[in-house]
Amino acid sequence: MVMKKSVVIAGGGIGGLAAAGALAARGLDVTVVERAGRIDSGGSGLVLYPNGVRAADALGGRVGARIRAAGHVTADDEVRILMDASGTVLAEEPIGAAGRELGAPQIPVLRRSLHRALLDEALAAGAAVRLATTVEDYTAHEDHVAVHLDDGSTLVCEALVGADGINSAVRRRMLDDGPPQYRGYTSVRGRTTGSVLGQRGHVVNGRGIQLFIAPVGGDTLYWTAKITSPPGVWPAMGPQAAQRALTEALEGWYEPVVALVRDADTADIVVTDIHDRDPAPRWTDGRVALLGDAAHPMVPALGQGANMALEDAAVLAEALASAVSTGSASASSAVTVPAALEAYARERMERAAAVVLQSRRQGSVDQGAGEAAESRRNARMKSAGRKDSDLAAVVGWRPRAQPHERTQPPRPTAGSAVQTKESAAIMRTPHVVLVSGSLRTGSTSDRVAEWCARLCAEQGATVRVFTGSEIDFPAYRPGLGAVHEGAAQFLEELRRADGVVLVSPTYHATISGLLKNALDLVNDLDGPLPYLDGRAIGTVAVGAGAQGAVSTLTTLRTIGHALRGWPTPVGVAVAQVPPLPATDEPLSPEGERLAQMVSQVMWMSSARAAARPALVRAAA
Ligand SMILES: Cc1cc2nc3c(=O)[nH]c(=O)nc-3n(C[C@H](O)[C@H](O)[C@H](O)COP(=O)(O)OP(=O)(O)OC[C@H]3O[C@@H](n4cnc5c(N)ncnc54)[C@H](O)[C@@H]3O)c2cc1C
Repeated sequence: MVMKKSVVIAGGGIGGLAAAGALAARGLDVTVVERAGRIDSGGSGLVLYPNGVRAADALGGRVGARIRAAGHVTADDEVRILMDASGTVLAEEPIGAAGRELGAPQIPVLRRSLHRALLDEALAAGAAVRLATTVEDYTAHEDHVAVHLDDGSTLVCEALVGADGINSAVRRRMLDDGPPQYRGYTSVRGRTTGSVLGQRGHVVNGRGIQLFIAPVGGDTLYWTAKITSPPGVWPAMGPQAAQRALTEALEGWYEPVVALVRDADTADIVVTDIHDRDPAPRWTDGRVALLGDAAHPMVPALGQGANMALEDAAVLAEALASAVSTGSASASSAVTVPAALEAYARERMERAAAVVLQSRRQGSVDQGAGEAAESRRNARMKSAGRKDSDLAAVVGWRPRAQPHERTQPPRPTAGSAVQTKESAAIMRTPHVVLVSGSLRTGSTSDRVAEWCARLCAEQGATVRVFTGSEIDFPAYRPGLGAVHEGAAQFLEELRRADGVVLVSPTYHATISGLLKNALDLVNDLDGPLPYLDGRAIGTVAVGAGAQGAVSTLTTLRTIGHALRGWPTPVGVAVAQVPPLPATDEPLSPEGERLAQMVSQVMWMSSARAAARPALVRAAA
C-alpha cells in the first residue's frame, strides 16, 4: 500500500486538471489518476464564457494566460450570426461587447489545446499524473480515504476529488443514483479548416437540429450539431457514417454550412448522446468531494459544463488550501478537510443546480423540434437578438475575494458566542409550506401533503401544511391578502417560505380551482422579493388517470414559473398515499419519486435558508 498524503483526483479532464494545478500551486501534494492512456481529448472545441475565464484566472499561475494563448479571444466588436437554415440572418449577437461589459471575453478553444494548457500548468505546479489507471472505488475513513485502483493497488490520501465525469465511479459509491438521463437529442461535433464562413461564430437553426459554430484560431472553426433523435441511434453509426448522415440531414440548408460539415476531418468527428442528471442532494462524503460533470452533468445548451468545472476547481482550491494551511490532519485544526469540502459544496451546489436546470430548459427550446417550436424559437431569437435566455447571472460569476483580500471575521467574545450560534441556527432552518388543493377534509391530496411535510420535518425543516379547507378563500381580488385574515396568514407563511410544495387533485386534467384561487393571492406578495421568487416549488398531481395527471403537473409547473419559483424540482404524479418511509417496508415507485421530490425541495430550501442573511442584506 502506498502511503500518500493529501489529494488524489480521479479523472484528468478539464475539471480534474484545473483542480490539480490550483491545489498543487497552493502547496498540496496532488496525484491525478486518469483512466485514458494519454491526456488528449478529442471532441472538437468548446466556449469558455466570462465566468469560466474569470475562474481560470482565479486558479492562479499562468492558467489564464495559457488559455488566452490557446484559443480565440473574442474581439470587442465581434458578433455571432444567428440564422435560419436557409441562411437568413435572424440577429447578430454582440458577444464582444457583452464580454467587454463583463470585463472578461468569451474564448472558444479546441479541447485538445485547453487540456494541454491545464496539463502544462498542473505539471509545472508539481502535480503527478498517473495515466491508464482507473479509480474503481473508495473507502472513507475518519482520518483518510483509501482509493482503490484497477491495478489492485490502493492510494491513501487526506482527500479524494471525484472529477471522473458524467459516469463517475466516485459518485456511484457516494450517491448510487443510477445512470444519467437522456434528454432527447444527440450531438455530432467536428472541426473544419478553410470554411468560407470565415473566422466568425454562427448559430444555425433548423427543425430538430441546431448547429453551433465558433472560431478557435488559425483558419479553423469548431462546430456542434445537436440533433433530436431517439437514444443510441447516432452513436451506433460511428463517426464516418454520422458525418455522412448529418450532411444528408442538412440538405437544402445554407450551402457554406453544409460544406462545413461535409469537409470536416472525419478523424475528429465525435458523436455523443446528450444526458444530464437532476441536481444531487449532496456532493461530499467526509473527505471525498465531487467536481465538474461528476457533480453536475448538464446538457450543453448554454455551453456551461466546462465553465462550471473551472469555477468548481477555483472554489475547491481555496477551500482545501485553507484546511491544509491550518494543519488539517491534526485534531486541533481550525478547518478540517471534511469541513473545507463541505464549505466548497455549500458555495457551489445551488448555483450549479440552477445552471443544470436552466440548461435543460434552453436545450429543449434550442431543438425547435416540430414546425411550431421551430418558428417560436426563431422568432424569440430574432426579437431577443441573442441565442440564449438572459445569461447575465450565469456568465457574470466572479470568484470570491482571495484570503488576503478578505476582512477577518470578528472574533466572538465569550458572552456573545451562544447568541451567535443560536441565531445562526434560526436563520438556517429551512421553512417549507405545503398546500393541498382538495376541499374534502382528509382527502388523498391532504394526506399526500402531510406525508411530504413529515419527510421535510424529518430532514430538518419547519413546515406548515395548508389543507384544502384552510385555503377556501373568497374569489381573489387584488388587495384581498390585506383584508382577509386567513389569506393574510397564508401570504405570511409563503413570504417566510424557502420552499413550497403544491399538491393538486387531478380535476379534468387541470388543477383544482381552490388551489388556483389561493395561488392568485401570491399577486399580493410584495416586498424586496415579490411572488415566490427563487423558492423551490415541488409539484404533485394526485389522481389515477396518468394523462390527466401529466396535464395537471404541467399546469402546476407553469404556475410555478409564473410565480418565479426557481429552480424547479421534479414533479410527481401519485394515485395514493405511499406508506411512510420510516417503516421498514420498501417504498413503492411512487413513494420513491415523492421522496426524491421532497429531498430536492429540501436541499434547495436549505441552500436558500443558508443564504437568507445575505438576501436580507441585499434587499435592505
Ligand atoms: C456536445 C457538447 C458540447 C459542449 N460544449 C461545451 C461548451 O461550449 N462549454 C462548456 O463549458 N462545456 C461544454 N460541454 C461540457 C463539457 O465538455 C463538460 O462539462 C466538461 O468536459 C466536464 O469536465 P470534467 O473534467 O468534469 O469531465 P470530463 O471532461 O468528462 O473528464 C472526466 C475524465 O475522467 C476520466 N475518468 C472517467 N472515469 C474515470 C475513473 N473511474 N478513473 C479515472 N479516470 C476516469 C475520463 O477519462 C476523463 O478524462 C459540452 C459537452 C458536450 C457533450
